[in-house]
Amino acid sequence: MKIIIIGAGPGGYETALVAAKRGVEVVLIEAGPVGGTCLNEGCIPTKAFCKNAEVLDGLKEAEAFGVTGLSYGFDFKAVAARKNAVVEQLRGGVEGLLGHKNITLVRGKAQFKDDHTVTVDGQEYSADYIIIATGSVSASLPIPGADLPGILTSREILDIEEVPQRLCVIGGGVIGLEFASVFRSFGSEVTVLEYFKDILPRFDTDLSKRLKQSLGKRGIEISTQSQVTSITEDSGEYTVTFTRKGKDETVVADKVLMAVGRKANVASLNLADAGVEFTPRGIVVNEVMQTNVPHIYAVGDINGLMMLAHAATFQGIVALDHIMGVENDIDLSVMPAAVFTSPEAASVGKTEDECKDSGIPVKCLKSFYRANGKAVTMGETDGFCKIVIAAEPKEGAESPYEPGRVLGCHLYGPHASDIVQEACAMISRKATLKEFQDVIHTHPTLIEVLQSALHS
Ligand SMILES: Cc1cc2nc3c(=O)[nH]c(=O)nc-3n(C[C@H](O)[C@H](O)[C@H](O)COP(=O)(O)OP(=O)(O)OC[C@H]3O[C@@H](n4cnc5c(N)ncnc54)[C@H](O)[C@@H]3O)c2cc1C
Repeated sequence: MKIIIIGAGPGGYETALVAAKRGVEVVLIEAGPVGGTCLNEGCIPTKAFCKNAEVLDGLKEAEAFGVTGLSYGFDFKAVAARKNAVVEQLRGGVEGLLGHKNITLVRGKAQFKDDHTVTVDGQEYSADYIIIATGSVSASLPIPGADLPGILTSREILDIEEVPQRLCVIGGGVIGLEFASVFRSFGSEVTVLEYFKDILPRFDTDLSKRLKQSLGKRGIEISTQSQVTSITEDSGEYTVTFTRKGKDETVVADKVLMAVGRKANVASLNLADAGVEFTPRGIVVNEVMQTNVPHIYAVGDINGLMMLAHAATFQGIVALDHIMGVENDIDLSVMPAAVFTSPEAASVGKTEDECKDSGIPVKCLKSFYRANGKAVTMGETDGFCKIVIAAEPKEGAESPYEPGRVLGCHLYGPHASDIVQEACAMISRKATLKEFQDVIHTHPTLIEVLQSALHS
């Protein structure tokens, strides 16, 4: 069997590796550096920045831990160099793995010629199956000034040479908030403008509201229900105008980050010649990532279902298993997500609002980091954990879930991104509250915040 995979991000290269290990002949085509957005301009460089932010924040609080007489500086060039070194190291690792004997790595931009053939720089490649994993690119707002030189995307802000004194972030989603949090730690005055009622619109409302307060306490100005209408520039200073509750307001900043989401990278593929159906949201796929052309699959950001690196990887496995007739137990609807702000936020499964909107009866259990022994020893007590559980339907009503089944877990606080993993494991195995409660946790650990919620 031969498979062409277009794009070597976490959707493409991870799938290529699994396929190659199973003995499939893979042609992997990549127009840029291997690792895709995630490794080169997404997950990894941002998390390198997050680590710098954490170190700096720790130093600022050192006196509270009895450390005195500390004096330190902050060399942003060294921060950037470290971030680049991290990316290069990991990219080298991926390149090494892709040296697998069953993988042919082709460098260049792929375009469909027909539904079994793609061309790269005039060279044709054909296969039984094709997996498209070409990712996404930053979106922008159709407003005056959005294309001014100096309005940064998430890619460009990673390469700025100085920490801006004033940073305006347009968009209070995951990417915008992560940069807001990091640059606040680096010393910027940060304002976030969010169109919706809450930051992180797809997350649990309780979590969004509390995280907003928490980031506010760190000095990050967050203005919700704020529709940005224009940006102007004068001598390197940007004025961002937005409408809030019917009134025009402005933010003046030295740098502006446009973080209003991402759009599927369909433009360059010539999908029409392969007959592959797509919408502005991305390539249309079924539950096994198959497009309307049965031997062509689309995984990762390109299908617009869930723009996360691990979603891309697991969608790739689902597609590959379908191609090879391998059974699996992967439930793509139980997809954890994390926000690497300080403090972190994380979420898996259904939110309370989502359940209410679809008439699913639920009850919620909560606990707080301030009652967690380990969090108190760390001096990091800001945070909470919320568990959503299927409840008994009212008489005469029905629910698709048996009462007691755990449907979601939403938390913010230190190491939220790690803690959510246990909930993810249990929810994906369809565990009940009782089954969750029977799991023993080491004491004292932060994950006991989950245990406390389960017993609350
Ligand atoms: C700033 C930022 C931070 C992020 N942080 C996180 C995080 O912490 N956790 C998380 O889970 N997700 C994070 N994401 C999202 C994550 O990066 C993406 O969801 C993930 O990279 C999607 O993987 P993919 O394989 O679908 O596409 P990509 O990683 O985008 O890879 C697609 C690849 O296809 C190549 N390509 C495109 N067109 C062609 C063509 N015609 N021919 C050949 N090659 C082509 C591109 O060059 C690219 O290398 C972040 C994203 C950003 C922007």
